[in-house]
Amino acid sequence: MTKVDQLPQRLLLGPGPSEVHPRVLRALATPVLGHLDPAFLALMDQVQADLREVFGTTNLVTLPLSGTGTAGMEAAIVNLVEPGDRVVVGIAGAFGERMAEIAGRCGAEVVRVETPWGRPVDPDDLRRAAAGGADVIALVHAETSTGVLQPLEPVAEVAREAGALLLVDCVTSLGGIPVDVDRIGIDIAYSASQKCLGAPPGLAPITVSPRALERIERRTRPVPSWYLDLRLLTGYWREGGSRRYHHTAPISSVYALAEALVLLKEEGLEARWERQERLGRALQAGLEAMGLELFAAEGHRLPMLTTVRVPEGVDDAAIRRGLLEVYGIEIAGGLGAVAGQIWRIGLMGAACRPRAVLSVLAALDDLLAAAGFRFERGAGVAAAAAAMAGSAPAAAPGGVRSSAR
Ligand SMILES: *Cc1c(COP(=O)(O)O)cnc(C)c1O
Repeated sequence: MTKVDQLPQRLLLGPGPSEVHPRVLRALATPVLGHLDPAFLALMDQVQADLREVFGTTNLVTLPLSGTGTAGMEAAIVNLVEPGDRVVVGIAGAFGERMAEIAGRCGAEVVRVETPWGRPVDPDDLRRAAAGGADVIALVHAETSTGVLQPLEPVAEVAREAGALLLVDCVTSLGGIPVDVDRIGIDIAYSASQKCLGAPPGLAPITVSPRALERIERRTRPVPSWYLDLRLLTGYWREGGSRRYHHTAPISSVYALAEALVLLKEEGLEARWERQERLGRALQAGLEAMGLELFAAEGHRLPMLTTVRVPEGVDDAAIRRGLLEVYGIEIAGGLGAVAGQIWRIGLMGAACRPRAVLSVLAALDDLLAAAGFRFERGAGVAAAAAAMAGSAPAAAPGGVRSSAR
């Protein structure tokens, strides 16, 4: 019989769920309140205010949906899109593909704008696609399947020119890099609790601009999902006014998210972004110093999710199994088109710390050497440690600078 209290503890360095801070775990053990208890409603207000800050928005409709990131994706699309709408979807990986799939199921005329995996979508390609008319332009900010960052400003410009609403997946970016919903002009953005926010999976923060709300008000047909209907949901989540029951809020999950947001505020958004950046670049420097090749195009690499090619002749699954079974470290393999070809190493939530960077590099050093991969032993850890300290790697014995390859 498997029992929860016998489960192992891992170092979670995959694409989510991320490691959860002990304070967030303790919040989960707080006694459950009723979902209309004034004390819980006050906490809800706080969570909404904190989410606005992280999203960089004053949007009134900013709330944690009950469900994972995909529920956020589905809510964004199912509320905005009506049958026959022209939806231009930028597809740079598995999650862009999922958006196109959901938009298609909503009866949209989906215009796919694709790019080779490992690169961001070209805004000029989106512009050409939107020239034929576009109601919504949708794409992913941080594509977790490829480790690529999508610059949003040029895309927002395309959306403005086309008079289209801009829908952005911020599942992996929120809390890890600036999202700036209002400054950029994003109309609807969603995320997930278990990535950079560092809470357990189960909630999908979403924010909706007044322009997007207007579009939803003007719908000719009701939103086909009752559970994810934002107009119904705001009857419960609307601040101040009388709160109406729609569905039972997952109370304990809201506690956890609230505490994760407090941790983020205590550290400061800027400091959090800086930490993500510094440690992400250190991990990348370490992997390159081991002679490994990063997958995402240079200049477009995410700090919180690093993709690296599985070296020729090395067994992808065997290395991941070794990491998990010998070292208790979880990383992920490739999704879809790059399955078996890349590893994905996340530094999200409580796992974004120097110890995690050095642990995964040291463990890879051991396992890759045992697998017969030839590289300079120890170079990865040294390069990452140097990068974290903000200095160049120390000279190798004999005065020769240790080199990556
Ligand atoms: C993880 C992820 C999702 C899906 O979130 P779930 O919580 O797994 O439903 C969507 N988009 C991106 C970019 C993601 O990384």
